[in-house]
Amino acid sequence: MSEEFQDHQIRDVIKINYKYTMGGQSKFFIELMNNKKLLGTKCAKCGKTWMPPRINCSDCYFPTDWIELKQTGTIEVSTIVWYTTSAFIKAVPYGIGFIKLDGAETSLLQGIFSENLVPSKIKKGKRVKAVFNKEREGKMTDFFFVPEDEYDNWISKPEYEGGKY
Ligand SMILES: [Zn+2]
Repeated sequence: MSEEFQDHQIRDVIKINYKYTMGGQSKFFIELMNNKKLLGTKCAKCGKTWMPPRINCSDCYFPTDWIELKQTGTIEVSTIVWYTTSAFIKAVPYGIGFIKLDGAETSLLQGIFSENLVPSKIKKGKRVKAVFNKEREGKMTDFFFVPEDEYDNWISKPEYEGGKY
């Protein structure tokens, strides 16, 4: 008679402090944090406007120039998030979607919050505006989008503020 193997497991936590660079896209995060600007890039050759910004045009590989984009846009596609990481668990359920900012030719993946989140609120073609955290760290989570008709409510909350319109 052989003894049955029993696996003994211990749950533990690894904490790692580290930093990383945003490299050539650092200007986007610095302007977001300090000035609530949403910067895209424009190809110096073909004129395509990229958001999120690309340092070189992905169509013709030419270098791009920084440009400030409007903080309004249109939802291209979206979904509602029900499962997420611990960092966002308190916000569930929330929307996420690809948003084409006015003046950009590509779309940015970003959170879409609503006080009355139903699929029709964040469907394709709906207009959204950017809302910024008052405390910004130079991260994508410094801002999010809300339906245009909820914008005034969101920026009246103590933790948020509006951008430039
Ligand atoms: Zn180009």
